[in-house]
Amino acid sequence: MNLFEQAKNNIKTEIETLCVEINRHNDLYYLKNTPELADAEFDALLEKLKKLEEENPELITADSPTQRVGGRATSFTPFVHRVSMMSLDNSYNIEDLRSFDERCRRLADGRDFQYVAELKIDGLSLALHFENGFLVAGATRGDGFIGDDVLNNVKTIRTIPLKLKGDFPKQVEVRGEAFLARSVFEKINNDLEMLGEKTFANPRNAASGTLRQLDSAIVASRRLDIFPYDVLSGNQKLFPTHWEIFAWLEKKGFHVNPNRALCENIEEVIKFCDQMLAKRDALDYDIDGVVIKVNSTQLQEEFGATTKAPRWAIAYKYPAMQATTRLNDIVVQVGRTGALTPVAYLEPVQLAGTIVARASLHNEDEIKRLNIKLGDWVLIEKSGEIIPQILQVIESKRDGDEVEYEFPTYCPVCGFDAVRPEGEAVTRCSNTDCPAKVKARILYFAARKAMDIEGLGNILVEKLVDLGLVKNVADLYSLTLEQVSELERMAEKSATNLINQIEASKTRGLQRLLFGLDIRHVGERYAKILARAFRSIEKLAEASVEELDAIHEIGLAVAVSVFNFFQNPHNQEIIERLKAAGVKMEIDGDSSMVLDENFIGKTFVLTGKLENFTRDEAGKLVEERGGRVSSTVSKKTDYVVAGADAGSKLTKAESLGVKIVNEEEFENMIS
Ligand SMILES: [Zn+2]
Repeated sequence: MNLFEQAKNNIKTEIETLCVEINRHNDLYYLKNTPELADAEFDALLEKLKKLEEENPELITADSPTQRVGGRATSFTPFVHRVSMMSLDNSYNIEDLRSFDERCRRLADGRDFQYVAELKIDGLSLALHFENGFLVAGATRGDGFIGDDVLNNVKTIRTIPLKLKGDFPKQVEVRGEAFLARSVFEKINNDLEMLGEKTFANPRNAASGTLRQLDSAIVASRRLDIFPYDVLSGNQKLFPTHWEIFAWLEKKGFHVNPNRALCENIEEVIKFCDQMLAKRDALDYDIDGVVIKVNSTQLQEEFGATTKAPRWAIAYKYPAMQATTRLNDIVVQVGRTGALTPVAYLEPVQLAGTIVARASLHNEDEIKRLNIKLGDWVLIEKSGEIIPQILQVIESKRDGDEVEYEFPTYCPVCGFDAVRPEGEAVTRCSNTDCPAKVKARILYFAARKAMDIEGLGNILVEKLVDLGLVKNVADLYSLTLEQVSELERMAEKSATNLINQIEASKTRGLQRLLFGLDIRHVGERYAKILARAFRSIEKLAEASVEELDAIHEIGLAVAVSVFNFFQNPHNQEIIERLKAAGVKMEIDGDSSMVLDENFIGKTFVLTGKLENFTRDEAGKLVEERGGRVSSTVSKKTDYVVAGADAGSKLTKAESLGVKIVNEEEFENMIS
């Protein structure tokens, strides 16, 4: 072997080792939920592999973790299913289940058999094809005979192995239901809303929209998941019973839904259906029922299928999360940011155990998209804890009495112009002092997670603002006992309590204050990060966009919004007045902090691999001592902590003359 071959061999080994390592962490994270690495550390491994592969493209394997993001397609190619994806017969009540059981027993003709009951996930069916263990095709159900090949998108699903583990038949087809977790769905919608883009009505629509994305990088960012439910080899079943499929799938590296039951008779099936219905709201994904299958493959083959569905399986559907009702009115509410949000007032209707009388309409575009008129019949849907949504208008029920709805061009509370900036979805009231905004902002400021002013609720804020006693949050601190006692129906004792509570709120500290000031994009978490990084409001107010952006976890959108907030003269005045009233503007001495002169106000950059801590742990140690961690090296960096294999950040620090400490020196600093 010459030197060149030897070098290549070494790289090959390194790539293989990285693949194994990344796949192991992938499984720990996505299948076992016990990650050992921080996200950033995982990304660093992936980056390293990507770089090696870019330099040695001939060494890329089909199952390399880098192959999960495939690029951009222009359209999808049709995919003919080898075995058609049949739908199941539905049953809506226990009687239907019992007659299904009777039919099965008749067909079994005296032989004993079992049922398998599994959750019916409310997502999209996918067929995954593996050849020699490698994932080679992934198709949507389509009409059951022909779907779309969405392989590039399917590859981004982390719970689908790109290569099956262990041994397997040459050809394997795994079928499963792709879905988005409710928590992920909410995050996607929040992000879309922040960007002023259209949101999804429910997790299923979001999953379907995501799978049909042509850019697989977007798909990868959305964290689809899948629960597999069947395995075929050609048109053969692989196992004598359906139950055995689950253990096999788990061994091959799939994420199998744990909620399933092997039932001796239909009564046990019914029990499982009831138990799961009770659990339904607590699950992090939508289900619409339970699928019941005869366990024995032999009996399945004997029972066969009708033209529409197999005779050995049935779907038991839970009470609909959808209902139809009438739209009585649309009421526009004005929020804290002045956003005009239309709310649908509905004829009250029973839906999945609750009475629904309102649904979200999001914004003007949503009303246009639905082409909704007052008096229309509408199809509504409820999903988990999410506010009910209007899915569509039932146009066939229109009788001509429906009234066109005009989205207001003025604020329904103060009458000022409502403005919708070009390219944005949200219309806002243009009046800074709009009472609706002021009231909402004061309630937000007084909320438990912010300044925690007990007793300052809706009705009281309403009165204080309407009487002109409070126009902004700073006014709260000049309220007198006399003014409060004179409010209608305010007892002497409650007035004293309120004044005491307002007084007590002065000591809540910087983190809660920042949260309460309602700086755009700054929620509880960012308030905490900013408070820890800057320690006082003066320091934060002086920070440039670059300094803010450099804080670990703070992105540019947040940085710009914080910077703008403190540039605004109105906000500056409020802060001056709060300060004058004695409101605490520094970080609250929290017990986890061990302030250290060497760290307070200093900026640290961590780079390279540390022996004794992960980077997150080291970062936490810095923050606890009053320092802040930045991800980029600049002239303002005080220390670069360089571990093994430190790269460009170390070079940059050297060129800028920033102080560099190794791990041992860093340990000395913290001890
Ligand atoms: Zn207004």
